[in-house]
Amino acid sequence: MADNQSHTHELIGSAPRGTRDLYGATLLLRHRLLNLFWNQAEQFGLIPIQTPSFEQKVLFLKGVGEETDIVQKEMYDLTSHGEELDLALRPEGTAGVVRAYIEHGMASWPQPVRLAYAGTMFRHERPQRGRYRELSQVGVEILGSSNPSSEATVMFFMWLFAKRAGILEPMIKLGSTGDAECRPKYEKKLQHYFREFAGELCSDCTRRLENRPMRILDCKNPRCQKIAEKAPSVLDNLCKNCEQHFKEVIEAADLLAVPYEIDARLARGLDYYTRTVFELFHSSAKEALALGGGGRYDGLVELYGGQKTPAIGMAIGIDRLEEALQSGGAATETKQRIDVFLVIVGELAKQKALQLYTILIQEDLSVVMAPDKESLRSQLKAADQAGASQAVIIGQQEANGGQAIVRDMETGKQETMDLLAVPEYLHARLGHISAE
Ligand code: AMP
Repeated sequence: MADNQSHTHELIGSAPRGTRDLYGATLLLRHRLLNLFWNQAEQFGLIPIQTPSFEQKVLFLKGVGEETDIVQKEMYDLTSHGEELDLALRPEGTAGVVRAYIEHGMASWPQPVRLAYAGTMFRHERPQRGRYRELSQVGVEILGSSNPSSEATVMFFMWLFAKRAGILEPMIKLGSTGDAECRPKYEKKLQHYFREFAGELCSDCTRRLENRPMRILDCKNPRCQKIAEKAPSVLDNLCKNCEQHFKEVIEAADLLAVPYEIDARLARGLDYYTRTVFELFHSSAKEALALGGGGRYDGLVELYGGQKTPAIGMAIGIDRLEEALQSGGAATETKQRIDVFLVIVGELAKQKALQLYTILIQEDLSVVMAPDKESLRSQLKAADQAGASQAVIIGQQEANGGQAIVRDMETGKQETMDLLAVPEYLHARLGHISAE
């Protein structure tokens, strides 16, 4: 190409910071995980739900909490033509599902209502490994159950999904954040403790000290983390009811044989949790990022104007699950299945091949051609690169005689046969290979 003809257009740029394109093996893995999720959801009797990618901002301010990082630093507010809208891209899925539960009168359905969702969330975080600005989550919400076995069932779902996905030793960290009775007393204790370090806390935590001291426990600033290490533990400050509830969650988790570790310092980054909180990890390794998180949120439906409804939910980060699978060496080989590659030489062969193509595709085989390549050699090379199991070769001579050659790409063995016999032969051959 002459110089003056090349690059007549500027490159438009790359995907926005914190986002990425998914294609090929990574996207196939995602499809596999989503299929697994929806199959398991059906097995657990969950009803699928899909809510919008953006909601009224107030939903997140009230539910997730104004003082949380997710809302304060990471939420994408929407504007249109320079005008601020009272809308935000959803940073998580629970708020929208709870809004929908109220809006569609699901409180009058037989309780509990068990829902499952999969979707994209948006958080303006500093991009790094495992942290994206557009992230994919699958989640489960059970509304209308105060029973501790519901927590255990949701944790079981979470663990089983990770295990079936291929995570070798998924485990759950389990804690409690108390309720409206014991939490205020605990918060007073925390304030008392943190006030001694008032001058050393970061500016966010200095503000949190007065109205949300528990938020200091999950501040990412190393100095605040160090101070928080010796703070009083919530588990030592639960009221009788919360203590009993926590005990029963543990008993039910034991019965379901869900592997868990009790973590007194588990502080989830969202305000709506009451009592039980938990996080999923791919092993007990300390450094790892959480694969998922969840907990009980008995006050959220009421906070959004519905009747008081106990509820529990969890979400798993699909991007993180994929990365754990890809880096952990678990069986993640996701190859595209190509049964047949049609190798065509000549005009008459093309006609015969197209007739065969339509039959094979409608008989549920995966079939590929390379119409831009002319020589037999280059087409066979393409068949090999595509990883096709069989090649059907139709040249001038075969086309004239109403025949085709079927070549096993693995062994190189070839057989010539009547064109009409090809579909049946392929089915038998491929059935034989998949049974091996
Ligand atoms: P959360 O709603 O913060 O409890 O998050 C639930 C799960 O979503 C986490 O355990 C992660 O697996 C995943 N997640 C949260 N934030 C991000 C992010 N920025 N990028 C990728 N995954 C995320």
